[in-house]
Amino acid sequence: MNKSSKIFVAGHNGLVGSAIVRCLKDKGYNNLVLKSHNELDLINQKDVDSFFIKEKPEYVFLAAAKVGGIYANEIYPADFIYENLMIESNVIKAAHDNKIRKLLFLGSTCIYPKFANQPIKENELLSGELEETNEAYAIAKIAGLEMCRFFKRQYGDNFISCMPTNLYGPNDNFDLNTSHVMPALIRKIHEAKVNNKKEVEVWGTGKPLREFLHVDDMADGCVFLMNNYDGEQHVNIGTGEEISIKNLALLIKKIVGYDGDIVFDSKMKDGTPRKVCDVNKLNELGWKYNIKLHNGIDNVYRWYIESTKK
Ligand code: GDP
Repeated sequence: MNKSSKIFVAGHNGLVGSAIVRCLKDKGYNNLVLKSHNELDLINQKDVDSFFIKEKPEYVFLAAAKVGGIYANEIYPADFIYENLMIESNVIKAAHDNKIRKLLFLGSTCIYPKFANQPIKENELLSGELEETNEAYAIAKIAGLEMCRFFKRQYGDNFISCMPTNLYGPNDNFDLNTSHVMPALIRKIHEAKVNNKKEVEVWGTGKPLREFLHVDDMADGCVFLMNNYDGEQHVNIGTGEEISIKNLALLIKKIVGYDGDIVFDSKMKDGTPRKVCDVNKLNELGWKYNIKLHNGIDNVYRWYIESTKK
């Protein structure tokens, strides 16, 4: 990409898309095409086709998706599979028809099998059964990255994919029913502090292990891949480091400055027991994450406090 390349960031208001836009602007890319959900419904094929014909973007970051945490995935599986399949199919096909230069599709590490070998290498994909709590989303995301691979194989389109690990950052979803664990715990623990509550309930046993990457690092990794990678296989983006949900809760408790207790609600599901990426492929390409977990949570906590004041 050069600084004046026309770049479409699909999903620019979300956690991921907004971070990509911040990163591109920081690096001096000055010709971004951004459409809100109201201006362009990516589920509608005709609208997507017209948009591509009119705007002719050269590069596409496909960061638009219907996303949610463990509870939302369980309650709305039909919406998760349908909306994600439609968004991917429409954007990837329009990108092909309009001969764009390059597309980066963003998946998620939940595409990997529940009992994948850990840390998870890229070639673990489709090697076993998926985790049932996010199967619908995972199947849609797998279809998206396979579409990129097959369009590359059959037509030579330069469509690549990356699989970011669990992300956190500004503009995350802090709704307790649909959010992921990081924003949920930041909110729960902050509210417990403000309301002098004696304890905070954390779902599950606290034992699952997860890896967390700040979205600003993820965005930097995505721009790096757009500029440096043309391979057929997807690439993991993560830290390669993991933390238990219990220790995450304790870390957030410390950052928030909350004195109460953390208790576990074992009626709620744990989901997959361990999920950490092998990031050697990306490291070998020349990229490594930068924001340490403690600093990243501190940054998001400050953002959250500011956003609740508005
Ligand atoms: P996952 O990584 O796909 O399982 O999605 P989540 O981020 O939603 O959940 C990660 C882990 O955190 C699971 O073991 C959850 O049970 C646990 N967890 C603990 N408290 C919460 C909470 O308040 N919200 C969410 N979403 N997960 C929680």
